[in-house]
Amino acid sequence: MERICVAVRMRPRSSEESSSSSSSCGTFWKIHDNRVSLHRIHGTPVSSSYSYAFDHVFDETCSSARVYDLLTKDIIHAAVSGFNGTVFAYGQTSSGKTYTMNGSEADPGIIRLAVRDVFGEINKMSEREFLIRVSYMEIYNEEINDLLAVENQKLQIHESLERGIYVAGLREEIVSNSDQVLKLIEAGEVNRHFGETNMNARSSRSHTIFRMVIESKGKDNFIGNEHGSLDSIRVSVLNLVDLAGSERVAKTGAGGVRLKEGKYINKSLMALGNVINKLSEGVKQRGHIPYRDSKLTRILQPALGGNTKTSIICTVAPEEIHVEETKGTLQFASRAK
Ligand code: ADP
Ligand code: MG
Repeated sequence: MERICVAVRMRPRSSEESSSSSSSCGTFWKIHDNRVSLHRIHGTPVSSSYSYAFDHVFDETCSSARVYDLLTKDIIHAAVSGFNGTVFAYGQTSSGKTYTMNGSEADPGIIRLAVRDVFGEINKMSEREFLIRVSYMEIYNEEINDLLAVENQKLQIHESLERGIYVAGLREEIVSNSDQVLKLIEAGEVNRHFGETNMNARSSRSHTIFRMVIESKGKDNFIGNEHGSLDSIRVSVLNLVDLAGSERVAKTGAGGVRLKEGKYINKSLMALGNVINKLSEGVKQRGHIPYRDSKLTRILQPALGGNTKTSIICTVAPEEIHVEETKGTLQFASRAK
């Protein structure tokens, strides 16, 4: 496995939150090159322990297209030639995960840019034939729901020799152009909110995985060319993941449904952190990798170990009221390196 690429993206200040006064003591985040540090408003850095360096740090002026170019493009191009790839957006609710992955009309997100790029690359590779399948699922309270088919709820993870690890009953749509994929995603977004009174609440409490399976074979795979036939079929899986909000729900005194959701989220994000930390250790030290500790890590297991490229975009909010959560996100990001 290649080293995991870790970046931080800070969103612009929101007008509501910048005007509200806060009790934390006059600090702000400063971005310089690939480093983000906590500073006092009238002085020096708060402490060197609140200064973090990453592969990239993007400030509020940065477009998703730039994030895509520096962090995702290589993964997409490799996926078209047979490498598995995964891109995560990690961060507290309202820090910009969905903005980064789905984007807006003016600033298309990672998913849309990736889909276009996949088909662009495929069209260049005239010597190969491609079959592309997409699926879109949500993990909510450790239950897997199909976003392309609402009737498919509480799906189970299975493992077989032929298929490896897979989600049984998950709809896979065969697609041949990017418009088709974008329509499916839009339909999936509607399902994501199905039956919910508070859309944002639900979407920030679930993980979503948008997946493309890219299969290809050489067109001129003539009989008698042994080497050619060995190399002839490639299958890769590309996962674009919008994680549930990483904020510590239990701490805020939430009860009932919120507390239950929070426990599941903390557990699965912790499992993800543990798997990533293990993977970023050398092969020799690694030992057991706890993929089975959550549905999220289990589903992503084939894409995280082995022949694979991964990047994590950690989104953070600039406002003072979010300083503690931002520290938490930057610590997660630091451990993933
Ligand atoms: P999350 O998915 O992490 O809960 P959102 O993506 O919904 O957060 O972002 C919260 C709000 O901030 C949204 O209104 C979104 O449009 C805005 N936002 C987030 N990131 C950016 C950005 N980089 N540029 C402009 N607006 C952003
Ligand atoms: Mg979101």
